[in-house]
Amino acid sequence: MYEPYPVPELARDHQKFRYSSLWDFAKQDLRLLAFFLVIACFIGYGIGYFWVCIVIAFVAFFATQMRSLYLVNEWISNRPYDVPPNIKGIWGALLFNVYRAQRQERIVQAEMVGLIDRAQSSLIALQEAVVLIDENQLIEWWNPASERLLGISTEDRGRNILTLLRQPSFVDYYNKIDDSPDGLKMKSSMFDDHYVQVKMTRFGGESRLLVAYDVTRMHNLEQMRKDFVDNISHELRTPLTVLSGYIETFTDQEDITPRWKRAFDQMQSQTRRMNALVNDLLLLSRLENDKKVAKNQIIDMPSLMNQLFDDAQAYNVDYGHTLNLDIDSHCDLIGSDMELASAFSNLISNAIKYTPKGGTITMGWHDNGETAYFVVEDTGIGIDPKHLPRLTERFYRVDSDRSRSTGGTGLGLAIVKHVLMQHQAYLEIESKENQGSTFKVIFPKERLSFPD
Ligand code: ADP
Repeated sequence: MYEPYPVPELARDHQKFRYSSLWDFAKQDLRLLAFFLVIACFIGYGIGYFWVCIVIAFVAFFATQMRSLYLVNEWISNRPYDVPPNIKGIWGALLFNVYRAQRQERIVQAEMVGLIDRAQSSLIALQEAVVLIDENQLIEWWNPASERLLGISTEDRGRNILTLLRQPSFVDYYNKIDDSPDGLKMKSSMFDDHYVQVKMTRFGGESRLLVAYDVTRMHNLEQMRKDFVDNISHELRTPLTVLSGYIETFTDQEDITPRWKRAFDQMQSQTRRMNALVNDLLLLSRLENDKKVAKNQIIDMPSLMNQLFDDAQAYNVDYGHTLNLDIDSHCDLIGSDMELASAFSNLISNAIKYTPKGGTITMGWHDNGETAYFVVEDTGIGIDPKHLPRLTERFYRVDSDRSRSTGGTGLGLAIVKHVLMQHQAYLEIESKENQGSTFKVIFPKERLSFPD
């Protein structure tokens, strides 16, 4: 901890100096010289050695000046923080001014040290871990919470942070902090079943401030939620299969009355909806739990686009839209074909569903040499911009009735978002109400395979 320099009070003798001008001090010296000269005159006349006494008077005056100079030098060299000796004359003025400037500086210094001390005490009291890392990745300072959360100990001062926190996810985050503005959740290196959220900020060039806090409770709650959804979806699957099997059998019977036929048709459509919901929930929970980077299959995009186009045509029978396919890129994608196909077809079926009959839907695959994008454009009902930020949340619908009547589960775009996250891709949505929407999926270079 920093110790502030003591700031001495102004000596009482010096108080009066505050208001004195340099001339006042010079007058003291002149008075002394005059005093010596008068004495010398008297003595000189008396003993008959006038000029000799005058010279002695000057020498005496010079000696007093030398003494003052000696005291000034002695104070500056040996004890500059003490109250200075009380010297009269011009040397006293010089000493006092030096002392006053130094005292002023020490007051500012003491204030700064106090401030640093308070800032440091508050960092020490924090429950969150705070670590200062210099531009060479070396640990400079940390608070006690870092010892508990990150396992940093006294011997780690000056050690490379990447040799201490060696998880690949952390190394990756350290090298690309700008890519993860929300920071990183990782296992605590101290306790196996604990999780910490780490967030780093650059300061003063390449130095970094790392803040970490315990998110074990939040992580456990989140895991409980995922497990619950996963379990309930699995549990619902079997009864639903049995129900839809029986309903199908009854619906197919020929001697069924029209009243019962209507009832069974409705039951069938509702069990289909439930089935779709359960399947989407299971897919979403698989995507959420599978934190690994997506598989690295080479996907022949022109062929996938043609397949998606054929599926879209089959789905479009009831809607009668004009469908266009626009491929002007020969580049392929690297990823998981099943998941990407499911994400793309979600976007295409949304475009078909949310466009009034007789519209135009265009799906395309393009690249600019750096990035490539899959795009679906429709002339449908569009989306009010205020809904766009929340559109990929699960069960978020702009118009719930419309979504349900078209067989939507409210999970389609949430699935798209998760699939894209695993492929380091992102979704761009442009839409105007009653004019149509454009959903664009942009893939980074690492996910593309250009033909040789
Ligand atoms: P849903 O199963 O309800 O379609 P999604 O997650 O796929 O769920 O979509 C969420 C909501 O976004 C939809 O309910 C709909 O309101 C809106 N939406 C999605 N795609 C389009 C589109 N192409 N045009 C207009 N609205 C859309």
